[in-house]
Amino acid sequence: MSNVRNADAVRRFDAVVVGAGFAGLYMLHRLREAGFRVRVFEAGAGVGGTWYWNRYPGARCDVESMEYSYSFCEELQQQWEWTERYAGQPEILRYANHVADRFDLRRDIAFDTRVTEAAFDEATNVWHVATDTGERVAAAFCIMATGCLSSANLPNFDGLDSFSGETYHTGRWPHANVDFSGKRVGIVGTGSSAIQAIPIIARQAAHLTVFQRTPNYSIPARNTSIDAELVREIKAEYPAFRARNYKMPAGFGTRIPQNDAPALADDPPSRDANYDERWQRGGFGFLSAYNDLLTNRDANQTAAEFVRQRIRETLKDPDVAELLCPDNVIGCKRPCLDTGYFETYNRPNVSLVDVRSQPIERITSSGIVVGGKEHAVDCIVFATGFDAMTGAVLNIDIRGRGAVPLKEKWGAGPRTYLGLGTAGFPNLFLISGPGSPSVLTNMLCSIEQHVNWISDCLTHLRQHRLAAIEATPAAQDAWVEHVNAVADTTLYPTCNSWYLGKNIPGKPQVFMPLIGFPPYVEKCDAVAANGYEGFELTKAAQR
Ligand code: NAP
Repeated sequence: MSNVRNADAVRRFDAVVVGAGFAGLYMLHRLREAGFRVRVFEAGAGVGGTWYWNRYPGARCDVESMEYSYSFCEELQQQWEWTERYAGQPEILRYANHVADRFDLRRDIAFDTRVTEAAFDEATNVWHVATDTGERVAAAFCIMATGCLSSANLPNFDGLDSFSGETYHTGRWPHANVDFSGKRVGIVGTGSSAIQAIPIIARQAAHLTVFQRTPNYSIPARNTSIDAELVREIKAEYPAFRARNYKMPAGFGTRIPQNDAPALADDPPSRDANYDERWQRGGFGFLSAYNDLLTNRDANQTAAEFVRQRIRETLKDPDVAELLCPDNVIGCKRPCLDTGYFETYNRPNVSLVDVRSQPIERITSSGIVVGGKEHAVDCIVFATGFDAMTGAVLNIDIRGRGAVPLKEKWGAGPRTYLGLGTAGFPNLFLISGPGSPSVLTNMLCSIEQHVNWISDCLTHLRQHRLAAIEATPAAQDAWVEHVNAVADTTLYPTCNSWYLGKNIPGKPQVFMPLIGFPPYVEKCDAVAANGYEGFELTKAAQR
């Protein structure tokens, strides 16, 4: 390991926070308010995390804006005005910047600075953190606010370097305007990012060729400008509205009608009427049509078939429709919301290439080769997703007790207690880490819950003169087993999803998020109330 510990100019803080997205910003605010000295490192030139990097055309949040926002400050939630039902990336980024300014957060954030190493010193219970700008700091606590979907996945396509045109990744989109006018564009991938970008790129480009490996279910978002009456209603009781959402399985959607009946109990016409009503409303409520869509395969296929029928009736070309029809479980991959996605394939300047039956062979200087045929393109958009949930954390050389690397400890998949801490790494916290509900929830809701828990924990340690907190191996083993047992009661593990790490060749296949937000919150609260049970607490040395 490099000279993290013996650098000359090591500044001391109480806590280091890695990342200045929504998690890092709120973590800084809470800790500062609690009287801790904090240093935040952010690889980007500005705040916003996901919304700083994902500037691709059409980037928009799939959780409604009145819910995808902080709840911790009543004044903030009353004063901020969203303009659309689902906020677009520029508006969310403006919001993140507003929060940073409003709470004077920037002065403790080092931008354009990537954390490269973090090593725990057992003798002093201190983390030594190094960055790519040469800054070195020491702090009792190290908090990873690195995001679940921040480490871009660019598959290692043969010949990629030989391509003579521009290439883009949706998760690393340039800040300057990208103009596809008159260009032949190729896009690889048909996940949430691609499904948002494709309709917009298609309107600009001379020709768009979509390279699809797995067809995806997508539900219309039905985005509109925000309903002023609804905003008034919500703002009249915002804290109560938030509290109701907090009790929902995914931390949002209290206004979506839930149905606690199984799908097969309805006759087919009633079922289709139910699906249709939700289809017309748009958004994730489609999957709340019945209570067993994610536990019973036959029930699930009634919803899946409804979507396939919508695809077939939308597409003019039946062969293209069949290629676009998914055949897996609906909802076991992250569902997509779209605005005119399937309709886009009716345009004369859009073509679909199946790369499931024949994978992308190679990239040449002028195109993408599939099945021996070169599809000529001037530029390529990679909408190929992320090394989700663990990628950003493991990109840092993190060493715990005995200088053991986290990469080694997680060699067979991530192991955490509550998704908050991991055995062998005292005083290291993960915000929305693997083993917590995170990506299966409204992220803002999960982030606030984790930040509040961590902040209360640090205050507790200070009050009780405790120097370290560390998950016990026994509590961690039981937790990992619990996360898997919950997943195994559902259809989630049945797809090649990034929840399972299946999108990254060689990544251990473990279902990473915990299903169910409210029981998780109860568990975290109980753990804290019981003196942080499942964690080992170490007393500070007497002076
Ligand atoms: P993604 O869902 O992982 O999709 C990546 C796409 O690239 C998939 O279609 C995948 O095919 C394809 N792909 C990957 N490697 C490939 C290869 N070697 N050859 C051909 N195709 C390949 O990534 P994403 O669309 O960026 O979305 C990731 C997550 O970010 C979402 O699930 C969501 O949680 C979040 N997100 C949210 C929003 C929103 O709220 N609106 C928008 C964008 C993203 P396979 O399916 O076959 O692997």
